[in-house]
Amino acid sequence: MDLSFSPQEESFRRDVRDFIATSLPKEVKGKARSDFEGRDEYLVWHRILYKQGWIAPLWPKEYGGTGWTVTQRYIFNEECARAEAPLALPFGIAMVGPVIFTFGNDEQKKKYLPRILSGDDWWCQGYSEPGAGSDLASLKTRAVREGDHYIVNGQKTWTTLAQFADWIFCLVRTDPNVKSQEGITFLLIDMKTPGITVKPIIVLDGAQEVNEVFFDNVKVPVENRVGEENKGWTYAKFLLVHERSGIAGVARSKKAIERLREIAAAETIDGEPLIDTDDFARKVAELEIDLAALEYTELRTLAAEAKGGHAGPESSILKIKGTEIQQRITELTVEAIGYYGYPNERGLGDNEYPVGPDYAEGAAGRYFNMRKASIYGGSNEIQRNIIAKAVLGL
Ligand SMILES: Cc1cc2nc3c(=O)[nH]c(=O)nc-3n(C[C@H](O)[C@H](O)[C@H](O)COP(=O)(O)OP(=O)(O)OC[C@H]3O[C@@H](n4cnc5c(N)ncnc54)[C@H](O)[C@@H]3O)c2cc1C
Repeated sequence: MDLSFSPQEESFRRDVRDFIATSLPKEVKGKARSDFEGRDEYLVWHRILYKQGWIAPLWPKEYGGTGWTVTQRYIFNEECARAEAPLALPFGIAMVGPVIFTFGNDEQKKKYLPRILSGDDWWCQGYSEPGAGSDLASLKTRAVREGDHYIVNGQKTWTTLAQFADWIFCLVRTDPNVKSQEGITFLLIDMKTPGITVKPIIVLDGAQEVNEVFFDNVKVPVENRVGEENKGWTYAKFLLVHERSGIAGVARSKKAIERLREIAAAETIDGEPLIDTDDFARKVAELEIDLAALEYTELRTLAAEAKGGHAGPESSILKIKGTEIQQRITELTVEAIGYYGYPNERGLGDNEYPVGPDYAEGAAGRYFNMRKASIYGGSNEIQRNIIAKAVLGL
């Protein structure tokens, strides 16, 4: 495996770096999902990338993608992470977009893809239900065909940022009398349709990141179905592999460890910088070693992709190790700031000044928030089951 970059790739890296340096607005730099206030702020960086033609590196050029090689995409992600550019929301660009251009018809491609790219339509993901998370195929939200419409009844849950969404892509049950995977259909539903109610779920850090979405006799045109009726499981699985492969977050974890090192250099114990104490230095070193190993695993999958392969069940390895590392970084950050973690956990709208150094602000919130990472995108226990079966053949 050749890990060096060609002169063209180095020149591409400089272009990306220059573009980000001149275009990334200060007010969104370094912001994570729970830091944004309102829909417009989320979309600031998305719209800048869209204008530049760089919002969808994974899409084929004919649908508005960049046409970049695997290595260029890798460099782009590294540079975005290095500059602390916010992550573009995945639901349109990384999830439903690829499903539509792979399995949708021409009208659907024309109608939905341009508005996903521009950020004019905000999408959310309607997969999980109260009784169907890990065992997703047991979902019960029912869609009954009546003429040229489906009538949808049921409930989705954990729907990320549904409060801002224009559209939801949903897995619904169209045939309850067959094996559960064989009676599922993939529907695109306009959130303004009568009968849809969104109820917030407030999470550990106080943010409204997820919601419940209820469907009460919601009328959905048959033309909003992607692919064939009862074949939705195939499209759903295709999307999940895409969802997991982006989840490793290697470049972002590198940046976060850099920040952790800075914090641990500023914090002291008995006059000695925390980063120089044996125990803390060992913990950071272990983290860096694990991240380096993950990076090589990611590079191996990218090299296979560059040769025409595509991400398969191996993406589960990236998901497990990537999210474990992200969680450990937030744990060590909270350990490093010590008592400053407590007073900084202020609720939205609090107007008191934070206590302690700037770097302590939000650290405990991020620690709580990142507990989600081993659950979403398919829990890490489920990923281990996938590895056992599909990779190790057990
Ligand atoms: C912050 C956040 C955002 C989310 N956003 C969305 C979203 O936008 N759209 C959406 O559709 N979903 C979303 N989800 C839902 C997510 O996909 C589910 O939470 C996840 O699939 C787990 O399902 P569950 O919560 O029902 O837990 P369960 O499936 O009930 O699992 C409970 C526990 O049992 C373990 N477990 C279950 N089955 C097995 C097994 N066979 N072997 C070993 N262990 C097992 C699990 O690992 C877990 O620890 C989100 C979740 C979170 C936390």
